[in-house]
Amino acid sequence: MVDLFHASRGCRFNCYPCCVSFLGGRQFRPRPIDRVLEELETIENNRLFLVDNSLAQNNEWEKELFKAMIPLKKKWCSHTIEDTPEILDLAAQAGAWYVYQAVFDTSDYIRDRIKRYHEYGIKVEGTILLGLDNQTEDDIKRLIDFLLEIDLDLAEFTVLTPFHHTKTYQDLNNANRIFDTDYNNYNAGKVVFQPKHMSPEKLQNLYYYAWDTFYKGQSQEEKCLN
Ligand code: SF4
Repeated sequence: MVDLFHASRGCRFNCYPCCVSFLGGRQFRPRPIDRVLEELETIENNRLFLVDNSLAQNNEWEKELFKAMIPLKKKWCSHTIEDTPEILDLAAQAGAWYVYQAVFDTSDYIRDRIKRYHEYGIKVEGTILLGLDNQTEDDIKRLIDFLLEIDLDLAEFTVLTPFHHTKTYQDLNNANRIFDTDYNNYNAGKVVFQPKHMSPEKLQNLYYYAWDTFYKGQSQEEKCLN
């Protein structure tokens, strides 16, 4: 079990499917490092999840944060961190255990980025969005093969979901492609819109295929224990 911790709020990015900039604000608001440290020192659990939306928003602050965390000797997971050698080295010393990384294609950019994390002993949980307009059935199958090829440690698959206050919602709604407005189904595991290159049923099956194929050799629990 991990304790949850916030070192900052807000996200200056505005990614296509994400409503965080609406919910948490578009301005990155890092907490002062001494306040962060003061709170971290009160947490007994040595496993943390830094739930900040993205730590990769201010390199100087990020470096100071990791330097300050080194003496605490905790293990932690987080969303994306900057992947320069200096920051990865500091993150590793500070106890980086897993980082989330969006894997949106099979490019060398992604391959190299995952490799860099691994070189510093940091594991990667990929977040993989299925159902984007540029994905065909073959693209999705190729993407799953790619995740296995690059030895991604864990993968979390989600179906594109048109949450309000996102560009995804605007686009799909404008094109009358949303067929389900029961928000109980907006759990990122159910298809609620008409995909561009396949039927909703096909995309739903590809979502199950992705989970089954990635975890075929080893279950999620077993991979976590590696
Ligand atoms: S996906 Fe992450 S980086 Fe992009 S807007 Fe949302 S929180 Fe920010």
